[in-house]
Amino acid sequence: MSEALTIALSKGRIFKETLPFLCAVGVEPLDDPGTSRKLILATSRPDVRLLVIRATDVPTYVEYGAADLGVAGKDVLMEHGGQGLYEPVDLRIARCRLMVAGRPGTDLEGSRRLRVATKFVRSARRHFAAQGRQVEIIKLYGSMELAPLVGLADCIVDLVDTGGTLKANGLVPLQHIADISSRLIVNKAAMKMKHDRVSRLLEEIQQAVNEVNDR
Ligand code: AMP
Repeated sequence: MSEALTIALSKGRIFKETLPFLCAVGVEPLDDPGTSRKLILATSRPDVRLLVIRATDVPTYVEYGAADLGVAGKDVLMEHGGQGLYEPVDLRIARCRLMVAGRPGTDLEGSRRLRVATKFVRSARRHFAAQGRQVEIIKLYGSMELAPLVGLADCIVDLVDTGGTLKANGLVPLQHIADISSRLIVNKAAMKMKHDRVSRLLEEIQQAVNEVNDR
């Protein structure tokens, strides 16, 4: 048997929404990552295995070639920077928007140096730099919505889907930064060295994505 193809992805929503595409190309995990504690899952295709890791670690595993392919949100890829990776397929799952949000009436235009709370440090800095603004970034790991409510920051940069979380905390979207969805990513060396198998898998997955979106 030729060397296995390794696909890295995270548990939860990304795993659940990627599963139908993997099944469409004959890759079914032999264990349920929801209940199994295994980090390497064998699949119904003996030449394909899955790594189950944290979402923010997926680009790192793929960049270093520890995984040939991976599934990562565009938000995570924007923070990572995308070195050593191709991003050939937009899976069009886990869609949302990266936005600046704050209390209603927050003035983002004034001359004051804004304090921005976020876990998306790089994307936030780039967004404000493109407006010619230097901002003070306060790195948080979750519950960003709290920061403007208790005076920790003027605004936040966070993912928004329905807007329900913002609304529940009395915040409003202020600026759109990027549309986000999950992408299939590929290690650049694997694309060369395992070209036939990788490109066939990419084509098949792209076809499965098209079929879902044409319905
Ligand atoms: P919502 O209340 O529907 O706007 O969802 C916002 C909350 O869900 C925020 O805490 C986000 O960080 C999180 N969220 C929304 N969409 C995604 C996504 N595609 N991936 C990860 N987190 C998300």
